[in-house]
Amino acid sequence: MNIYRERKRAILNTLIKQYGMSEAYDMYGDFMGYRKPKCAICGAEIYDYSEWSETGYEIKKCTNNCWVHTTYSLTDSLETKGFYYYGKLTEPIYQSFQEQIKENAQKMKRKNALFWRKKKSQRKRKEG
Ligand SMILES: [Zn+2]
Repeated sequence: MNIYRERKRAILNTLIKQYGMSEAYDMYGDFMGYRKPKCAICGAEIYDYSEWSETGYEIKKCTNNCWVHTTYSLTDSLETKGFYYYGKLTEPIYQSFQEQIKENAQKMKRKNALFWRKKKSQRKRKEG
C-alpha cells in the first residue's frame, strides 16, 4: 500500500517537474482515471488534500461527509456510515471500507427512489 502510494507520488512529481503544477495534475488525474471524482453515495465533489510528503497528513473525503479517509503518516482513519477504522491500513481493510461505501450508495439510491415515489403519489393525491 505504502509502496504503491510512493510510486504514484513519484509519477506526479515527475510530471510536475516536466509540465508544471496545473498541467501535471490534469495529466495525473487522466492517467489515474479519477479526474474530478465524485462521491459514490451522494455524487458530491470529493475534497482531497495532501501534504503527505511533508508531514504525512492526507485527507480525502466527500464534501457532504458521506465518508472520510484521513492519513496520519502510518496510521489511517476510515469512516463511513456503518464502518469505522483507525490504525494501520491494510488492503483487506481498505476493501471492506470500499464495500461499505458501495453498500451505502445502494441504500441511498433505494431511499431516493422511495422518496420520489412518495412525492409523486402525494402530488397525485393533491391534484385529484
Ligand atoms: Zn457523499
